[in-house]
Amino acid sequence: MPIRPEHAFLYPIDWPHISRFIRFERARGRCEHCGRPHGRRVFHLGDGRWWDPDRLHWRAGSGRRVRRPTEDILSRGRWTPVVLACAHLYHDPTDSDYRKLAALCQRCHMIHDAAEHRRRRCMNAHHRRALGDLFYGPYPMLGADWITPTHASMLDDDRLLYVRLS
Ligand SMILES: [Zn+2]
Repeated sequence: MPIRPEHAFLYPIDWPHISRFIRFERARGRCEHCGRPHGRRVFHLGDGRWWDPDRLHWRAGSGRRVRRPTEDILSRGRWTPVVLACAHLYHDPTDSDYRKLAALCQRCHMIHDAAEHRRRRCMNAHHRRALGDLFYGPYPMLGADWITPTHASMLDDDRLLYVRLS
């Protein structure tokens, strides 16, 4: 996952070396949660199960070996390229302790970060609304039929959505 420019200062100056060490030396180019290989395309069923071409068996999203699927894999299966990233297990980019980092494929990384992403999305929405209140006044409450097209054009998309929903 690319590092946002506004977060780049949180990472240590040798982050590229740390990341490379975690992904390719410690993890040997495989996701440390599910085992998918970096830089290759894997065939998967969309629910986490994937075909391990090196060991010639199916694996679950957790990486453990599972039975061959009974459903039609040709209609459900898809090919996906795997890209390993070095993930912060505790969502703190300032802490580069090797025990708190993991080499994760994009699927495992998204699953691991899902709760943190939800929290940040909520915080960003609150910040945006707070800024809107600062410059345009408080949000209109229920039954805001006093909004005119001129007033609506001054509001950003989030505020218009809020007005339309209320
Ligand atoms: Zn994975």
